[in-house]
Amino acid sequence: MRSLYDFNYEQMQELAKEYGWKSFRGHQIFQWLYRNRVLDIDEMTNLSLETRETLKKDFIISPLRLVKKQVSHDGTTKFLFALSDGALVESVMMVFDYGKSICVTSQVGCNMGCAFCASGLTKKRRDLTSGEMVAQFIYVQKELDKVSDRLSHIVVMGTGEPFDNYENVMNFLSTVNHDRGLGIGSRHITISTCGVVPRIYDFADEHTQYNLAISLHAPNNALRDQLMPINHAYPLEELMKALEYYGKENNRRLTFEYILLKGVNDSKSHAKELAKLLRGYNAYVNLIPYNAVDEKGFQGVSHEEAMVFYDALMKEGVRCTIRKEHGNDIDAACGQLRIKELKRGHEE
Ligand code: SAH
Repeated sequence: MRSLYDFNYEQMQELAKEYGWKSFRGHQIFQWLYRNRVLDIDEMTNLSLETRETLKKDFIISPLRLVKKQVSHDGTTKFLFALSDGALVESVMMVFDYGKSICVTSQVGCNMGCAFCASGLTKKRRDLTSGEMVAQFIYVQKELDKVSDRLSHIVVMGTGEPFDNYENVMNFLSTVNHDRGLGIGSRHITISTCGVVPRIYDFADEHTQYNLAISLHAPNNALRDQLMPINHAYPLEELMKALEYYGKENNRRLTFEYILLKGVNDSKSHAKELAKLLRGYNAYVNLIPYNAVDEKGFQGVSHEEAMVFYDALMKEGVRCTIRKEHGNDIDAACGQLRIKELKRGHEE
């Protein structure tokens, strides 16, 4: 059965009309879902009994349930959810100085096959619906409601490639962004892609003001080919050309993510090459400490080694930061909690 979370504000008004109701009903339902955050259609008390019965016949509200929750000493909280078909997905809530952020999963498994990533250990089983992504947000927000707190930021950086599930991700973001709903500001929303070039053009054309992050991880094609199979389809020249177009269309700073992998992409000459690649772009680099994945055989670098790379980049005039580690005591690498459950045979 479809979830009411699948419909963004405009679609909810359309839905109301399809049922022969005034579009204002759509507005009311949206308010119940996102302002009051009810989980039961019967709580929508300004709808007639008949309207509620009709809705109950055709829709559910939340399409997920909690299976497991892990809380780290730094406040990072990991949620493992089961969807209606038994598939498992993870969301992570992270605590920053500027607020609380949720990392949302966009697919069950992932087909991108990055050499270092736990998510790709299982092939994509299916795309998430936009309602399943909204539901991750609402679940975590409802936990925070209990202590009068709120999620202020969203990163679409969980398992999956958001630009391989473009329509649903954009629909999800339109619901959480809408000022009649959750009102998460566009500039507080970040989509991370491994570089699905055609969708970067589509995204550039939409002028949404969401932040775009690119998982780069290597400064040349030979190395990127080894780490990220997507590079065979869309090599760096094409990726950078698409990003140039994005830059022309959107006056926004790009984030480049770069995991430092020991002895693989972490030398001073890699830093120089990276600086050269990014010259002329309105960009900054986020250096990511690697969360070791047992099955993958890569190692991260020490903080000191990361600082050497950081200094080399800064010397070349590239703005960069070293990402703070979050929840390193709780399987925080993308997809690790799910993989553990899969091994125990817990996904239906
Ligand atoms: N598919 C998208 C979004 C999900 S991955 C993308 O590739 O951007 C989110 C980020 O986490 C990516 O930069 C990804 O490369 C990185 N990542 C994956 N596995 C990781 C690990 N074990 N440790 C640290 N970062 C990892």
